[in-house]
Amino acid sequence: TAGDPTLRRVMLKISGEALMGDQGYGLHPPTVERIAREVQSVHEMGVEICMVIGGGNIFRGLQGSAQGMERTTADYMGMLATVMNALAMQGAMESLGIHTRVISAIPMDQVCEPYIRRRAVRHLEKKRVVIFAAGTGNPYFTTDTAATLRASEMSCEAIFKGTKVDGVYDRDPMKYPDARRYDRITYDEVLQKHLKVMDASAIALARENGLPIIVFSLDAPGGFRSILAGEGTYTRVE
Ligand code: UDP
Repeated sequence: TAGDPTLRRVMLKISGEALMGDQGYGLHPPTVERIAREVQSVHEMGVEICMVIGGGNIFRGLQGSAQGMERTTADYMGMLATVMNALAMQGAMESLGIHTRVISAIPMDQVCEPYIRRRAVRHLEKKRVVIFAAGTGNPYFTTDTAATLRASEMSCEAIFKGTKVDGVYDRDPMKYPDARRYDRITYDEVLQKHLKVMDASAIALARENGLPIIVFSLDAPGGFRSILAGEGTYTRVE
């Protein structure tokens, strides 16, 4: 089943906007703490957890380049935004008593660890939560692709994409009350129908590596844990 209680290692991808609460920008500490508790409840089940957090609550490369900034510069600024979010989440996790490491694709040794695959694996084996920051380290990519890449490198069994809604719908469920949720859908259908799950390069990479994507609501309290326990509603992209 989609919520497979036997999952041992997973990737949780959340957008930067998930951390801003009802504000239009930046970080909302109570929201960061709430999400940290959701992660804690899964960590308590003994599941090894990788995380990737976007940066859209602070800065998006495309936005910067639309305002005349050079695209690559703007993308590096976006990657730096993800480091800020990762540090905020690390702080919230550690105040709950969970050992958490931030690992950056762009080395900044005074701030966090550089990405070294084998070291990241070792942290996971020791049940530390690992937050992968600075995306892939390359402009023109997104944190969705970074999540898929790191999930593949870390041999995660699935990517959990936390969103505002409990799965993938045929139309925007916020606008159309009769929108239908898919229980399961293929990578190809997501691409053909241009459904907003993750960007196309992330979907293609997940397909290449046979990594299922579980789209679920991060707003529902206990949602992450219940899906790992084999319950709840979600969409499985496979
Ligand atoms: N980014 C990048 N390369 C990466 C990941 C991210 O250049 O590998 C930049 C890009 O400018 C992007 C920004 O970082 O707009 C924030 O990431 P993203 O848009 O994926 O964040 P989210 O929408 O998930 O909050």
